[in-house]
Order: sequence, then structure tokens, then C-alpha cells
Amino acid sequence: MNATRSPLYQQLLTRLQQREAELRALLQADDARALTSATGEAEVTDFKELAAQGASSAVEDVQMAHAADELATVLAAQRRLDDGSYGFCAECGEPVAEQRLLAMPQALYCTACQALHEHSSRS
Ligand SMILES: [Zn+2]
Repeated sequence: MNATRSPLYQQLLTRLQQREAELRALLQADDARALTSATGEAEVTDFKELAAQGASSAVEDVQMAHAADELATVLAAQRRLDDGSYGFCAECGEPVAEQRLLAMPQALYCTACQALHEHSSRS
């Protein structure tokens, strides 16, 4: 049985592709803005100056970093759909619950392993 042909997987693939397009558009818009600011006013290297400009640019930087991270996970999920490893936990190899995949199509781990990872990454 080829799981990647199932309607669930088709639905998840569509959602991953939509998310990829959204994230790419977001990151491209940020690139364009960074280019115009780099050729415009003097470069800002001092964090105090950055803060004085308002917190919005720092917040956007964090959002862009998150978007880049998420894009990487979305692309990885599409590759797993392609090679047939999608839907299985990267840690324990157990199938990831459909409800979890529907909530987060790029999920790499099952709920239990994800909780362990989140716990260990905060150490
Ligand atoms: Zn697991």
C-alpha cells in the first residue's frame, strides 16, 4: 500500500505547498526591504540604535527567522512525503497520529517525542 497516495496525504501535501508559498512570499518581501534599506541610510550596527528605531524591526527579524525555520521544516516534510517516510516519528519510528499531522503537517515527531525534545532543548 502506498500511503502517499491516500486522500489524507494529498490534503497534507496541498497544505504544505500552500504554506511553502506563503513563507517564500514573506521571506522575499523581507529580502526586498533589506536591500532597499542597505542602499539607503547609514548602516545600523549598534543594538542601542536599533532599539531606538523602535522594537518593530527586531520583532520582524525574529518573525523572519521563524519563517525561515518553518520553511525548512515544510520542505523537509514534502521530501518525506516523496520518499515515503512521512507520517512516522523521526525519533521512535511510530506512526504520528493523523490528528497531529492535520494540526501540524510538518510535524517530525510524535506527540511524546516532541514533548521530550522541547524539554531537552530548554536545558
Ligand atoms: Zn516518537
